Amino acid sequence: MTTALNIAVFDGDGIGPEITAPTLALLDRLARNAGDVTFQFDTLPGGAAHYAKTGEALPEGSIAAAGQADAILLSAMGDPSIRYADGTEIRPQIDLRMIFGLYAGLRPVAFAAGHPTPLALPEGRAVDFVLIRESTEGLFWSMDRGVVSEDEARETLVITRATCEKLFAQAFQLAEKRKSEGRGPGRVTLVDKANVFRAFAFMRRIFEEVATHHPDIQADAIYVDAMALRMVKDPWSFDVLVTENMFGDILSDLGAGLMGGLGVAPSADIGDDHAVFQPCHGTAPDIAGRGLANPIAMILSAAMMLEWLAARKTQPTLGAMGARLRRAVDQVIATGDVLTPDLGGTAGTLDVVRAIEAALD
Ligand code: NAD
Repeated sequence: MTTALNIAVFDGDGIGPEITAPTLALLDRLARNAGDVTFQFDTLPGGAAHYAKTGEALPEGSIAAAGQADAILLSAMGDPSIRYADGTEIRPQIDLRMIFGLYAGLRPVAFAAGHPTPLALPEGRAVDFVLIRESTEGLFWSMDRGVVSEDEARETLVITRATCEKLFAQAFQLAEKRKSEGRGPGRVTLVDKANVFRAFAFMRRIFEEVATHHPDIQADAIYVDAMALRMVKDPWSFDVLVTENMFGDILSDLGAGLMGGLGVAPSADIGDDHAVFQPCHGTAPDIAGRGLANPIAMILSAAMMLEWLAARKTQPTLGAMGARLRRAVDQVIATGDVLTPDLGGTAGTLDVVRAIEAALD
């Protein structure tokens, strides 16, 4: 039986459209080869250019259509020269997390020797962990709520029991899945600042409660400053990390840096009923329109989407398609002949896409 999927697409601003079009073409190609999956892509308005034109960054119609879709694929949105009156940028990519309750932001960090990492990996070591960034509260709860006067500014950090319980349950389930696949030892590490802030001591108590429901998984905790150091010193020691929104925002860029840069860092923002898949990077206005954008983070985000849909639709073909796409990307990175300038190469976006297509065949 054929699985027909409706994917809501935001092709975004800057390099967004340049990396979206070839990613959709790759997905179509995989579906044609598989034979029992079809995609209908619904490209929706939204973003900085749309705001400049219409005064709306994320139209109601786009929200409604995205809510009906099986999954949402987003490139990146934003333009530093286009801002709201309060001086902040438009940010529909963050608004979508709040609108659809996408509390679990998954940021995989995986690389081995031969990948363009700035680390000198010891012989035989490979890095493979997933950072889960809570994505609806923490310090980002304060978005649009900050209070600023002539003399001071205040933002509020919010941690709720309800979100923590769901977030930690996802973290432990992911560790169980990775353990069953031989990808990790079965360990979840909470990253917090419980030595200083009551909110994090509260978060840690809930983490320890949830951990008791998963006795087969090791649970521990580390302070965020120590974690920043450990991600550079021995990143191969970790399996699943889970943390507050702002800490996750910062650590996920550190993770991207370890992998070689933002151009190869994918992400998934997952809630109970919806999910958005998007690269960790922004719209890269400095290179937009030049055909130099690295499409890999976007393509790996699409692979994460396929794997998420596989579980949701109980359609193993989708999981196989996602794994195939990831292997093809890995091969292109490891071979190292066709890479964009951010990874030290001289290839353009479409050269990399062609190399990935060739690796698929
Ligand atoms: P950025 O990620 O766009 O760029 C940072 C640096 O990384 C730049 O030098 C850029 O050229 C490079 N880079 C990023 N993606 C790349 C890719 N795929 N290939 C090659 N090089 C790449 O971050 P920024 O400059 O801080 O932000 C630019 C705009 O993007 C801003 O308007 C910001 O608000 C927005 N933004 C959006 C998202 C999102 O939609 N998820 C995330 C971050 C920033």
